[in-house]
Amino acid sequence: MACILGAAVGAAVACLLLWRQERSARRAVSDATAAVRRSEARLQALVRNSHDVIAIFDRDGRCVFASPSAERGLGRSVERLLASPPFDFVHVEDRPAVLHTFTAICNRPGSVSPPFEFRVMHEDGTWHTLEAVGTNLTDDPAVDGIVLNARDVTERRWAEAELREAQERFRSAFEHAPIGMALAGIDGELFRVNRALAQMLGRAEDQLLGVSILDLTHPEDQATIRTHLDRLVTGEIPSYQVEQRYIHTDGREVWTALSASLVRDPGGTPMYVVHQIEDVTARRRDGERLAHQAIHDPLTGLPNRLLFVDRLRRALAEDTHGHTAVLFLDLDHFKVINDSLGHSAGDRLLVTIADRLRNAVRPNDTVARFGGDEFTVLCRGVPDERVAAEIAKRIASAVAKPVQLVDGEIYVTISVGIALSGGEMETTETLLRNADAAMYGAKENGRARFQIYAAANRDHAVTQLRTGNELRRALEQHELRVFYQPILSLASNRISGFEALVRWEHPERGLVPPDQFIPQAEETGLIVPIGAWVLEHACRQAAEWHVGGAPVSISINLSPRQLAEATLPATVAGALERTGIDPDRVWLEITETTLMRDAESTVSMLHKLRDLGVHLAVDDFGTGHSSMTYLKRFPVDSLKVDRSFVDGLGREPEATAICTAVVNLAHALGLGAVAEGVETPGQLEALRGLGCEYAQGYLFGKPAPADRYGLSGRPRAIEAPVPPALPAAQVGR
Ligand code: C2E
Ligand code: MG
Ligand code: MG
Repeated sequence: MACILGAAVGAAVACLLLWRQERSARRAVSDATAAVRRSEARLQALVRNSHDVIAIFDRDGRCVFASPSAERGLGRSVERLLASPPFDFVHVEDRPAVLHTFTAICNRPGSVSPPFEFRVMHEDGTWHTLEAVGTNLTDDPAVDGIVLNARDVTERRWAEAELREAQERFRSAFEHAPIGMALAGIDGELFRVNRALAQMLGRAEDQLLGVSILDLTHPEDQATIRTHLDRLVTGEIPSYQVEQRYIHTDGREVWTALSASLVRDPGGTPMYVVHQIEDVTARRRDGERLAHQAIHDPLTGLPNRLLFVDRLRRALAEDTHGHTAVLFLDLDHFKVINDSLGHSAGDRLLVTIADRLRNAVRPNDTVARFGGDEFTVLCRGVPDERVAAEIAKRIASAVAKPVQLVDGEIYVTISVGIALSGGEMETTETLLRNADAAMYGAKENGRARFQIYAAANRDHAVTQLRTGNELRRALEQHELRVFYQPILSLASNRISGFEALVRWEHPERGLVPPDQFIPQAEETGLIVPIGAWVLEHACRQAAEWHVGGAPVSISINLSPRQLAEATLPATVAGALERTGIDPDRVWLEITETTLMRDAESTVSMLHKLRDLGVHLAVDDFGTGHSSMTYLKRFPVDSLKVDRSFVDGLGREPEATAICTAVVNLAHALGLGAVAEGVETPGQLEALRGLGCEYAQGYLFGKPAPADRYGLSGRPRAIEAPVPPALPAAQVGR
């Protein structure tokens, strides 16, 4: 029993065990099934939601499975994909490589391809780049194909291409930039430079790497650059631009326009500094040259008016010790020199004078060229007029030394006007104007001298005003007289004509000679009506003599002011007509200096006068500086040898030579010659010897009222031939 029981229990236990085993086996199966299902569901979910394209291809390359993402990525339904011929959407250019990769893994079950890329056509016609990996799972019966895991990398590739392109552009721009480029760490150490910068500094590119940009900078600019760099790195400024110097290997300064900006990493940490460096040395030099040119005279290199006025303004502002003196200088007869010797000689003369002026004053005085032949000198701390006069004398004697020109030596003089500061309302303008006025005063008083404004000009202005008013009155009150001085024809020994010379019969001063009022009349413009009056009066007198049987000529002096009047030809024509004088008997005298003053416009005026039928004579010839070119062009008929030369005739070799030259020149030009101021028989003989045609002087008669030579009708003096040795007093008898 026990045995049976034991066997039964044993069987029951066994059954129980078996059941348990079955049950756990069943459970295990159902658990496994569930796990498989779950895993499959997970896989499906993964495949469904994956952004990557997952596809399975058979050995022929036909798609047998495609994840929904393939549909999304390629814009084609899974069905279409499955129905498409192998590699149908792959770009033809990429097909060989894709096929190659596919074939390679196809032959090796379990193998995985290296990542490869190819382009596929999207439904919308665009090409998408896929990055893929193929896995051969043909030995896995569950898959039995080649699994392709692909990711659309189109955008990434674009971005990469763009980045590459941008980098390339930057590299190229950096390397080939015409200006210097450098990348430096925030400590200033260079880690990349371009060729332009290397050339700019005279070094090889690699010689610059590792060098601090500060060490290349000019010592005087280093502090500035260091400050800028600090501010840049601390974020105070995003960039800076500055003009600063580097030092070239040959030691010279290289001026640059530097522009630096900081580059930070995405986290905002400063990474490096980009430097753009433009060589502006030439530009600065040009700029400096232009700035210099703007305030200097190009010919002499002296300061010009602009700079002079600026210095004068400053001097006046700081004028505490002594005075500021302004000297206004004008070369005498420069225009004549320029016209006769040519402009290049004139320029050389100006340059020489400029040098002399510079050397004649202290280094901190300013000598400027105001234009033409006008110079100014600014001297500070001048205690009084005496010292100013000393300066003027020193300048004048420096100028007076002979100037060597190509054609020989010439002598020039200078007229100087001085104005001293010290007045209440002193301005640069008033000082300059006063110095200018004083200079004109010096010119009027005979040139080659100086005049100080303060005293002299006040007196001058007062005299000027008084004489002006008195002259006006003289004209109205008929105080002017015309005197006549005979002119002898050396061929006939007879008086052939007279020169009309004006006098002023002043109620208090008596008979005033022309030298004492003609300059004022000239300055005030009164010479125009006075000249017209003399002209009319003299023509009338000559006409009277003519009617009386003495067909004498009449010489009348014209002043520069008259010559400048456009109405002069009409005035002369009017006088000729009203007096009825034969124009052939009328001679108009113009001084050599006047003629040359504005030679070009004088030429046309002379032609207009000559067209009236009158003759023209050049007065005081030898005192001015005639240009032979003009002399040939002037329609003149005779030259009057200045009496200063006639005076020395036969006594002074120089005067004799000049007289000879003038007479010869007149003849060479087909003109007549008249000698002025003949006082001695010796002079007369000498003139005869020279072949001079006419003579005028005290030897034959002093200027006198018309009645001295016959009140009306024939002048008695003309009746008899004048013997050469006849004393002047007897001429009229
Ligand atoms: P000018 O035209 O050269 O006249 C000659 C001057 O020399 C005259 O001086 C005359 O008196 C002077 N003279 C003539 N012979 C001799 C001589 O033998 N010895 C000396 N020492 N002198 C002699 P004047 O009359 O004093 O005239 C001076 C200047 O005034 C003239 O020089 C002329 O330039 C100017 N002048 C005179 N009248 C007029 C006029 O009506 N109009 C203008 N614009 N100027 C005039
Ligand atoms: Mg004259
Ligand atoms: Mg004369």
